[in-house]
Amino acid sequence: MSSKHVVSCFIAALLAWAPLQAAAKTCSVAIDSNDAMQFDKKEIRIAADCTQVKLTLRHTGALPAEVMGHNWVLTTTANLEALATAAGKLPAGSDHVPKGDARVLAASKVIGGGQSTTLTFPTSVLRKGGDYTFFCSVPGHWSMMKGKLVFG
Ligand code: ZN
Repeated sequence: MSSKHVVSCFIAALLAWAPLQAAAKTCSVAIDSNDAMQFDKKEIRIAADCTQVKLTLRHTGALPAEVMGHNWVLTTTANLEALATAAGKLPAGSDHVPKGDARVLAASKVIGGGQSTTLTFPTSVLRKGGDYTFFCSVPGHWSMMKGKLVFG
């Protein structure tokens, strides 16, 4: 193999690598929660070209996590009720997220007033045009704290 050939192989590899890097795109989303047991968004839209979602959950209230804690959990709308029921039975300190449960597509920890938390998840867990719901899985919250996530 000539050194010229090695160099051209190297350039070809670089060219093949560059588009893959350019295609990776992290999209940031923020959602607020409060002491009135509400999210400030009923819908979150993720563009089709996002490969990762960086979601920041803020709690703009003042009540501590033990009283009015919130988290952000993503699942399919079909699994919402069953997952919310299962999560609601978990003790405080578990973040109300069942471990290793395939119905959980993404989940944050529970936060209290004045706190925020960020989670990152790949959009490979989502199907374009799928029916997804995000909710707070703290017991008793999900009927008020939920919304749609749209990907694509
Ligand atoms: Zn909540």
